[in-house]
Amino acid sequence: MRVGIIGAGFFGFHIARQLERRYPGIDIEMFEKEAAPLTGAGTTNQCRLHMGFHYPRSGYTIYQSIMGFDRFVEEYGEHLHDVPDNLYAVRRDGLVSVDEYLAVMDAFHLRYETLVPSQRLFRVPDEIGVVLRVPEKSIDVRHLRATLASRVQARVRLGTRVDEVDAARGLLRSGADVHGPFDYIVNASYTDPNLGLPAPLRFAVKWELAALVLARTSLPADAAVTIMDGDFVSVYPAYGGMHTLSSVLHTPVRRYAEHAALVADYARRHELAARTGSAAAIVRHVAQHLRLEHRTRDVWVTAKTKLATDMGDSRVTEVRRHERLFSVLCGKIDAVFEASDTILQEMTWPSLGDWRQASAIPASARDVSSLTT
Ligand SMILES: Cc1cc2nc3c(=O)[nH]c(=O)nc-3n(C[C@H](O)[C@H](O)[C@H](O)COP(=O)(O)OP(=O)(O)OC[C@H]3O[C@@H](n4cnc5c(N)ncnc54)[C@H](O)[C@@H]3O)c2cc1C
Repeated sequence: MRVGIIGAGFFGFHIARQLERRYPGIDIEMFEKEAAPLTGAGTTNQCRLHMGFHYPRSGYTIYQSIMGFDRFVEEYGEHLHDVPDNLYAVRRDGLVSVDEYLAVMDAFHLRYETLVPSQRLFRVPDEIGVVLRVPEKSIDVRHLRATLASRVQARVRLGTRVDEVDAARGLLRSGADVHGPFDYIVNASYTDPNLGLPAPLRFAVKWELAALVLARTSLPADAAVTIMDGDFVSVYPAYGGMHTLSSVLHTPVRRYAEHAALVADYARRHELAARTGSAAAIVRHVAQHLRLEHRTRDVWVTAKTKLATDMGDSRVTEVRRHERLFSVLCGKIDAVFEASDTILQEMTWPSLGDWRQASAIPASARDVSSLTT
């Protein structure tokens, strides 16, 4: 079986690995527009292995995080750190009330301890209704980047942007080159989930350039603070004793309704973030809420894909299929199993086009059909 994967990011490598396990000898080719793999959101994010505490307004995002959490720990545990003081502070004036927040977390049977907001950490403790200490972990994205690619056999074509997908024939076009045919194509590009999908199947998405400040802070290396739920801030362990600082108000550098506009800006994303003063604004916003010393070490600027409605701050993962193409809307990192499970399951079922050409039906699907006829 030949599979082409668009995007050599975390989702792309994970899916390649799961396919190689299921189909030993499978021939996978990955296509990556950048000159190196793993430079996108998969390795420049807030490093939070979610359980759901961040998403009180999106039950399905919580559900996917819960379902993925233990599997992520089992599969990628060596890249994770415990965060013994992982605090979620729920504001009295947030988008959900303290009672609503706790009711949602309880409904999902999430475990937490409640604490009194400390004056040493919060500038105005009275604004905080409750503080929860939660068992979410942090992902060491630097370690992940160093080892992930070595775990798969797939060939990675770097500097190769996929411009077009022919889902019926299993072909990919990059500039003047056509690659394939592939039995299946997986679009794990994160920022371009609609590539090759017909209009009725397209995801309704929008984009932003997002900035995070990577800093050494006065917070202990294994502590995190997230203020919920609204235009607030969070500080989360990254790697090497550093934290990422983010602000709901200032992390978005620029917003886009069209994918082409994001692509046009991507190469100068750091320049744009510098021009808008995003890093300084994030640091100021964090300082308004938390008593924290910090020294900035780097500023990450990454493209983010969101649902166009932003309803409930949903970050769900979903796979849509069109002929030989599986397209992934990437949500939270631990929901990557949602994507790989769906693709592996669906691959045992031929597409409509494949029913018409029985020779293209994978062996596993032929086995199933012989049992049922
Ligand atoms: C600022 C920020 C913070 C986040 N924080 C968290 C967090 O703390 N926890 C969490 O679970 N999730 C978080 N997320 C979400 C998470 O990072 C993403 O959902 C996930 O990483 C996306 O999948 P990926 O890792 O494969 O994406 P990427 O790493 O972006 O990989 C996609 C790859 O596809 C390539 N590509 C794109 N288009 C093409 C094309 N046409 N042809 C060829 N190659 C292409 C890109 O160059 C890239 O290498 C965050 C996202 C952002 C932006």
